[in-house]
Amino acid sequence: MRNRTHILLIYTGGTIGMTRHVKTKTLRPFDFGSLLENIPELKLLDCSIETFSFDPPIDSSNMDPDHWYKMGLLIASNYDKFDGFVILHGSDTMSYTASALSFMLENLTKPVILTGSQLPIGDLRTDAKENMITAIQLAALREEDRALIQEVGLYFEYKLYRGNRTTKINAEHFQAFASLNYPPLAESGVHLKVFEENLWKRNARFRFKAHNSLSDKVGLLKIFPGMRPDYVRHFLNNPALEGLVIETFGAGNAPTADWLLEILEAKIKEGLKIVNATQCSGGSVSMGQYETSQRLKDVGLLSAKDMTTESAITKMMYLLTKNLGDKEFKITYETSLCGEIS
Ligand code: ASP
Repeated sequence: MRNRTHILLIYTGGTIGMTRHVKTKTLRPFDFGSLLENIPELKLLDCSIETFSFDPPIDSSNMDPDHWYKMGLLIASNYDKFDGFVILHGSDTMSYTASALSFMLENLTKPVILTGSQLPIGDLRTDAKENMITAIQLAALREEDRALIQEVGLYFEYKLYRGNRTTKINAEHFQAFASLNYPPLAESGVHLKVFEENLWKRNARFRFKAHNSLSDKVGLLKIFPGMRPDYVRHFLNNPALEGLVIETFGAGNAPTADWLLEILEAKIKEGLKIVNATQCSGGSVSMGQYETSQRLKDVGLLSAKDMTTESAITKMMYLLTKNLGDKEFKITYETSLCGEIS
């Protein structure tokens, strides 16, 4: 008989472990020990749990690539010791972290599941306990002698999603996340139902590899009706910029004004990588479907297809460090690396 499943629970911060300041009522992180004391149920789980806490824990609005390296390194250096990893994280940037980790942790053979909550664990109506306990149970699931889930997931309000497909859609509802372009990996009801057909099937020929460099020379530009040429030129003329994601309308459409296409074309010729991503949470970029996207294709924008903005940005951060030639960059960017594109 095999030993009990061993899970590493990583606390980075977020509402789940926050406490309300008595006078100001603002929420701020408190220590992990107190958080664990609030969940005696953890001892009832059929797996052993070790914990690691960020010191100090942070509100996820302060998350940045250095924190992602720290998580990646923690997972990589404990990879053989544990069967699965659960990351407690603020919901605000959880989809960014999940997306970044999905690229940084290549060929995972074990689950990395992020979760958090809308209410602190100490609140009477908290969603934290269910989210945390079920995330641990999902991370502990095994089939024969291997982990059932072998990818970065995000569990929130009864659903496990592929992390790099998620977006935070609600600042108030317990159902805070959506994955509009990919179905859930699992659902929690009376039973835990895993939809095995939706799980990422890794290529068994390749071994797990952790990457630890991301570029911060990326920008995000959301277009809107009435956008001024001088603002756009100023933004794009920043010499530090190496990769840009443009959030366009609908299926990848943008104004056909010459000034916009001229600056995009000039910057692409200078070597800037520019990606067309849709502002919509669901659906895909399809350049050439409308006249308003044909010229974007002609001047050389890459397509984010049906990637979320969170994936489009973090994939850009990841690929910019790989020294790929233009053609290889385009092919790799537009190909699904870990299930981020349909
Ligand atoms: N501001 C908090 C955070 O992202 C919100 C949350 O935890 O859900 O850290």
